[in-house]
Amino acid sequence: MIIFDLSCRHGHRFEAWFQSSEAFEAQCEKGLVSCPECGSTEVRRIPSAVHLARTSGEPAQASANVAVSNPKGELLDAYRKLVAALMANSEDVGREFANEARRIHYLEAPERSIRGQASNEEFEALRDEGIEVLRIAVINKEDLN
Ligand SMILES: [Zn+2]
Repeated sequence: MIIFDLSCRHGHRFEAWFQSSEAFEAQCEKGLVSCPECGSTEVRRIPSAVHLARTSGEPAQASANVAVSNPKGELLDAYRKLVAALMANSEDVGREFANEARRIHYLEAPERSIRGQASNEEFEALRDEGIEVLRIAVINKEDLN
């Protein structure tokens, strides 16, 4: 899975997941990708990096806003795969996350996807600066201590 930043002809920005860039192109041509704000199917990719912040010390918090009723556990499984894909496609910058995300945003560092730990304050500060960050709950055995 790949996350793409997209923009419609009116300049609305949104994100969407696709199996591959080929899948994105195919769905786009068929008019299956539409802007959530205005419904326009004239959508294009915009270059951007995905920044992942992992809330330090509170692994359960990021998922607390999401209530999932899923007795079979399929969704959790999908979520784990998603997280694994994100992990595999981003560079771990650890505690330097906030600094590095800022440097990338202000073009002081090469644009790329990074991941790392950030406090709630750092996360909110990045958001306030208009830096696109995503907070995810990483579900693995390391968090079960
Ligand atoms: Zn739009």
